[in-house]
Amino acid sequence: MEFAYHTTLCAVLVLAPLTFAVLMFVSAPYGKQQRSGWGPAVGARLGWVLWELPALVVFTWTFVTGPHALDPAPMILCALWIAHYVYRSLVYPFTLRTRPGADSKLLLVVLAMSFNGANGFTNGAWLSHFATPIYQLRWLYSPPFIAGIALFVAGAWINHSSDATLRKLRKPGETGYRIPYGGLFRWVSCPNYLGELLQWAGFALAGVSPAGLAFLLFTTANLVPRAIHNHRWYREHFDNYPSQRRAIIPGVI
Ligand code: NDP
Repeated sequence: MEFAYHTTLCAVLVLAPLTFAVLMFVSAPYGKQQRSGWGPAVGARLGWVLWELPALVVFTWTFVTGPHALDPAPMILCALWIAHYVYRSLVYPFTLRTRPGADSKLLLVVLAMSFNGANGFTNGAWLSHFATPIYQLRWLYSPPFIAGIALFVAGAWINHSSDATLRKLRKPGETGYRIPYGGLFRWVSCPNYLGELLQWAGFALAGVSPAGLAFLLFTTANLVPRAIHNHRWYREHFDNYPSQRRAIIPGVI
């Protein structure tokens, strides 16, 4: 278990900067960046379920088979993880107002499944197998734990409310794109991604978790380039796109 944990963690850490470099030049072909080519595909909803589910299944299995699955701090972090991934893999895909023809390329599905499985494994293993000395009962009152949980909750709120704003841009039956307004859209084009990054920063902090940090770095490598591509897409498609908006970090990027 220890060898598998360290190997997988190193792989994620090595792949994060490579992923960032590739995605800055080649955007993942789904959503606004969907385009032909890229091989066979499945429907967009099925794609979401398939590529997110390993994070839920592998994490839960790794966590519950660890010796510390019933300790308080790991249990709280486990509950946050499971709540997020039940929503993301089993609820979110069915709330989408997808366009006809929206798809998920099988190549992306396989890559995302691999990453989510690896990520579920390292995070479950850290919390339930390896982090024990840190997680005595007093950890629940420590500043990193409290600040991390607060950051996670704030990030989840930003992520969900921004996704809800995007969802409401399409009335039932509509298929196009509009400019989103309100909330953090005032400052950035992709506040849903910003919320996601804050969430995982909070998770890593609350668990002082190397696996959580690796996840945060990889998610940054994935979502920052995507936010830059989406921001560029808005500016190319809407003449009246608000000029003060940035891609993902207010006033910066
Ligand atoms: P997007 O913002 O690209 O799209 C979200 C939904 O809103 C899609 O259904 C999209 O439709 C629709 N939409 C987006 N913009 C508009 C618009 N201007 N007008 C009308 N409809 C719009 O997000 P993603 O699909 O990339 O991600 C969805 C969620 O998953 C986010 O919360 C994100 O944080 C999370 N995520 C997490 C990752 C991680 O590594 N942890 C990786 C990727 C996503 P359409 O599909 O037709 O474009």
